[in-house]
Amino acid sequence: MSMQREALQRAALRYHAQVDNVLPYLETRGLNDRSTIDDYLLGVVVDPIPGHESYVGRLVVPYLTPSAVVNMRFRCLRDHDCKESNCAKYLGPSQKVNLYNVAALRAADSTLYVTEGELDAISATVVGFPAVGVPGVQAWNMKHPRDEDEAKRSKRHWLRLFEDYESVVVLADGDDPGKNFAEKVLNDVENARAVYMPKNSDVNSVLMERGVDEFRSLLQV
Ligand SMILES: [Zn+2]
Repeated sequence: MSMQREALQRAALRYHAQVDNVLPYLETRGLNDRSTIDDYLLGVVVDPIPGHESYVGRLVVPYLTPSAVVNMRFRCLRDHDCKESNCAKYLGPSQKVNLYNVAALRAADSTLYVTEGELDAISATVVGFPAVGVPGVQAWNMKHPRDEDEAKRSKRHWLRLFEDYESVVVLADGDDPGKNFAEKVLNDVENARAVYMPKNSDVNSVLMERGVDEFRSLLQV
């Protein structure tokens, strides 16, 4: 294992050990099952490793492969509108753009689901719809401001992965950015269709407020 991966792994375990501090937040996102939180190594930065000081207080979302932690993103948990407060909702130590929850690629049979964002990918997967998460429309759009070349390479790689499935279903947020994201994916992936969550809802909120049966009927399966 490379030094960098080893450091990421250590950091993920350290932040996961303090996840109790953010269980109330995770519950508001419908993530209240301890084994899910453990499986995905969700955590919070309380006691940062050197270099991670600016992430204190943020939710930690590690990007896991079967053998390693390959990336990590830190989500703001402050009770404010990040955009209005000029705050980066997501931060990360790496310029890399990874697909989230690649375990879904193996778990999926003929249909692969795609969400914008990590927590929706977890929620869909745990109720039986294996989903990968794309970390934002910018990542898909190849206009990732931090590293455009890496984003381009990542997207080509993702498109190849998606070719293996009979269908790819985008679980789009029920708002304009959600529509924008879905349209980008549909534009690039031949066998894709979009299912829109109800207005101002996302996968998490539909599952929480309406339940899995209604979620399933939205997907028409
Ligand atoms: Zn913020």
